[in-house]
Amino acid sequence: MDKKGYTKDKANEIAQAVVQKEAQRRICKNENCKHFSHDHIRNAETCLVESCECNEFTK
Ligand SMILES: [Zn+2]
Ligand SMILES: [Zn+2]
Repeated sequence: MDKKGYTKDKANEIAQAVVQKEAQRRICKNENCKHFSHDHIRNAETCLVESCECNEFTK
């Protein structure tokens, strides 16, 4: 137990969950796309991935 009351494993688990949540938020919500937001032209809301027809990138 550390001072926060978590075991080291539990703390790692929580850290992993946060990282995964962050990654999820960066993935396009378009079912046909699911590329990362950095694959999109932010202002045009268009996906940069070749052959991907996504044009409705949502944050
Ligand atoms: Zn895409
Ligand atoms: Zn997309």
